[in-house]
Amino acid sequence: MNSISLNSIQIPRKLKIVRNVQELSSQLKDILQSLGYWSKSILWVTGVYNSKKYLESIVKELTIPKPDIYVVGNNDFSAVSNLNSVLTKNNKKCIVSVGSGKVIDISKYCANQLNIEVISIPTTLSNDGISSPVSVLMDHTNKKHSLPSRIPNAVLIDLTCVLKSPTRLLRAGIGDLISNITAVKDWQIAERDIKEDINDFSLLTSITAANYILHLYELEIHNEKFIEALARGLILSGISMEMSGDSRPASGSEHKFSHAIDNLFPNRALHGEQVAVGTILSSYLQEGDWRKVKSFFTRFGVPVRAEEIGLKDGEIISALLHATHVRKRYTILEKVNLDEKMARDVLKRTGII
Ligand SMILES: [Zn+2]
Repeated sequence: MNSISLNSIQIPRKLKIVRNVQELSSQLKDILQSLGYWSKSILWVTGVYNSKKYLESIVKELTIPKPDIYVVGNNDFSAVSNLNSVLTKNNKKCIVSVGSGKVIDISKYCANQLNIEVISIPTTLSNDGISSPVSVLMDHTNKKHSLPSRIPNAVLIDLTCVLKSPTRLLRAGIGDLISNITAVKDWQIAERDIKEDINDFSLLTSITAANYILHLYELEIHNEKFIEALARGLILSGISMEMSGDSRPASGSEHKFSHAIDNLFPNRALHGEQVAVGTILSSYLQEGDWRKVKSFFTRFGVPVRAEEIGLKDGEIISALLHATHVRKRYTILEKVNLDEKMARDVLKRTGII
C-alpha cells in the first residue's frame, strides 16, 4: 500500500482585522510580548509617505521612545542586501513590516534569509503577498522574480487605514483574489492531463478565499464589510500557497499572462490589474463562467480591457502568445496552444480588445 506523508506547514499564529490604530497597536503589543521581543530587538520596516505616517502612529500608541525605523525604497536585490546588513549589524530578532506589497515582500524575504520573525501590517490590499511564503523582487534589469520567503508570524490589518489607501490598489487586490478561480481550474486540468499531484486542502483553501468576495456583488468597494472580506480572502489565499509549498493554488495561466506582460511591457499596470484581465481570458479558455468574472470586475471598476492595462491590441496578443514561455507550469494555455489568429479571436470574443 502506498503511504501518503503528512504535510508540515507554517501558518501565522494571529490574523487580526481591527478598526483603528489603537486596537491594532494593542494586538501588536500582545504579539510582540508573547514572542519575547520589545524595543531594541525590533526593526520597524516601512515605505515612504502614508505607510511611514501610519507606522509612526503605531509607535506613538505603543510609547516606544526611539524605535529603529528603516524606510524601504525599492524591492530589489540591493535593497535586500542593505536591509540584511542593518538587521545583522544591529542584532535584530524581529521585523514589524508596515506598508504596501513591496515593503512586506522585502521584509518576508530578509526574515527568511536571516531566520528571524516577521509581522505583516499591510496598509493596503493589492495582492495576496500579505500572508504568503512568496516575495516578488526585482533584479538589476527590472525583471521580477517570485522567491520563497518567510510566512509572517502574524498579520494585522486596520480597516480604517486600508480604506484610505488608493482605490486602484484595492481593485488590483480584487483581481489577484478572483484569479484563484482559474488558477485552481488549471491545477485540476494539470492533474487530469499530466497527473500533477494536487494538495486538496490547499485547493479548497484557495477557492474558499475567492468565494469570500464573490458573493458580495451588491456591496460597494469602500464598504467595510467588503474590505474585510477582501482582507480575509487575500490572507487565506497566501496560506493556500504555504499548504501546497508553492504558488500553484493561486497562480495559473492568468498569472503566466501577467508575467508575460511584465517581461515584454514592464510597468504598464499593477500585478492584480494584469491578472484580472488574464482571469477573464483563462476562464474563457477553460470554458468557465467568464461573463460572471467579467461582470464582477466591471462592477468594482477592475480593468477588463487591454487599454485599461496600458496595452495596444498587438501588444496584448504578443503577451498572450508569450505566456506559455514564462514558467514551466501546465495550464489551459499549454493545452490549447494558441496561435496568433486564435489569440486575437479570444481577445475579441471576451471584449478585451
Ligand atoms: Zn498574484
